[in-house]
Amino acid sequence: MQENREYYMKEAICQARRAEAIEEVPIGCVIVREGKIIARGYNRRNTDHSVLKHAEITAIQKACRKLGDWRLEDCTLYVTLEPCQMCAGAIVQARIPKVVIGAMNPKAGSAGSVINLLQMKAFNHQVEIEKGIMGEECSAMLSHFFATLRRKRAAKPD
Ligand SMILES: [Zn+2]
Repeated sequence: MQENREYYMKEAICQARRAEAIEEVPIGCVIVREGKIIARGYNRRNTDHSVLKHAEITAIQKACRKLGDWRLEDCTLYVTLEPCQMCAGAIVQARIPKVVIGAMNPKAGSAGSVINLLQMKAFNHQVEIEKGIMGEECSAMLSHFFATLRRKRAAKPD
């Protein structure tokens, strides 16, 4: 079955909006298996004071719990921003076969921008990457978030 990529990316964007609502960098993720969303996650790094609380890690943990397995071999992960090195590592470890990315991240992206950890021949697992799915919406959401943050900071001198 051909998955409706835009539909799932919109769901990932909904997760990113939840992060934005608590003043976190808006990044969201969903994991899809057999046409169904089995796990969701959004960035909560500041809220939970944890570098581990990236959208992808949260979604991977939930999916693993749900399936009772550390392997997510028949799942597709949708994420609004190119994964960092930690999340790319977890994606490879979980044997996720495919990742669909909204916007790329030239400063920290580890799916081709800084490094491509998802497709290193030397590792035992490589991940298919599809990028630019609703990329404009995903990057506009981030630009808007950072512009608002700068405005707030400029408004209250400390
Ligand atoms: Zn990450």
